[in-house]
Amino acid sequence: MSENLNIYHIVQRQIKEAVEMLGVDFTVYEILKQPQNVLEVSFPIKMDDGSIKVFRGLRSQHCDVLGPYKGGLRFHPTVEMDESKALSMWMTFKCAVVGVPYGGAKGGVECNPKDLSQREMERLSRGFIKKIANFVGPEKDIPAPDVYTNPQVMAWMMDEFSNVRGYNNFGLITGKPIIVGGSKGRSEATGRGCVYVTREAVKEMDWNMEDMRVVVQGFGNAGRIAAKLLHDMGATIVGTNDSIAGVYNKEGINPYDLENFKEETGSVKDYPGSEHVTNDELLTADCDILIPAALENQITQANAGQIKAKIISEAANGPTTPDADKILYENGILTIPDILANAGGVTVSYFEWVQNLQNFYWTEDEVNNRMEEMMVSAFKNCFKAREGYGVHMRTAAYLVAIQRLANAMKIRGWLN
Ligand code: GLU
Repeated sequence: MSENLNIYHIVQRQIKEAVEMLGVDFTVYEILKQPQNVLEVSFPIKMDDGSIKVFRGLRSQHCDVLGPYKGGLRFHPTVEMDESKALSMWMTFKCAVVGVPYGGAKGGVECNPKDLSQREMERLSRGFIKKIANFVGPEKDIPAPDVYTNPQVMAWMMDEFSNVRGYNNFGLITGKPIIVGGSKGRSEATGRGCVYVTREAVKEMDWNMEDMRVVVQGFGNAGRIAAKLLHDMGATIVGTNDSIAGVYNKEGINPYDLENFKEETGSVKDYPGSEHVTNDELLTADCDILIPAALENQITQANAGQIKAKIISEAANGPTTPDADKILYENGILTIPDILANAGGVTVSYFEWVQNLQNFYWTEDEVNNRMEEMMVSAFKNCFKAREGYGVHMRTAAYLVAIQRLANAMKIRGWLN
């Protein structure tokens, strides 16, 4: 039977399973199975050639029982409502699992940023945030970077939102450039957090980082940082890819060198000394640790059985389908789920927002040390729940997150 790859249905299934296993009030599932608010907007943008193009933007706000909504905005051709809803739900669980006081949100604009000039990107960013200005704000919903959005996009949005409000609002959005209220360590945070929990998993297995051969699928922001930090810890990076091509070298690839190569040529393609691999060959290549750091639905029932890694650490959101999860679990592979493995990003976003509200800025060491503490403690909680309930790590992370959400719902009077 072919798999259901609708991630909205996938996340609903994950929530139901966890609610039943915890034995909490079923109303918790009824509350969590859909977002509290969704907004769909369209707005015209003047293109460089003088023509007008109408763009569609979305924002889904899932559940604010633990605090204001929080989550990224992506600029991508596949942005659509079910995807935004599911991603906003994962944000709720991500924040709950690490103990960041936010609810989940997500959204974006359906577009292909590769076809847009910088000026068009600026007009698009300003146009979108203006359109959703009443729906977001520092106490209400705090956006951040996601696929194909970056600190520059955050700066334009913060600036436009400040224009709308009539005063500076640095706390509107996180992932900003440091000069306008960004936090030290934010741009590396997703990759860095992923490395901290991967290191904890290696320790739990009684393995040595020096013996680990690592494949990183996606040499973007998160993947590149994870590859460099793991290399610094003594692991060997054996393969990676980008949207254009994949490279593999069992003797090892220096990720710093590869980063320079990609900067010069625009891709990892034809990196000297490596062999060319397809996306599927990369995922199933010989290695100890696999870090999916690209998009959703990469590890499916079609390729899960061929995966050779012993640890999978999900820097991307939703890279593994539930059917694939079962196969990985049966094959004894330890998966560190997205809601835990990539939570470093939102954790440092939280620190950025706190710094903005206080107008008091931290050192990079303070940021990294606090994030490490939260990530390691979240990993330990999930690992304990995994052993206690005899379930795989993804379910364990949901159990930890949903228990916290249920406790907050109960005490706020949302449940009987
Ligand atoms: N977009 C990132 C994520 O999926 C970061 C969200 C944030 O920092 O608010 O976790």
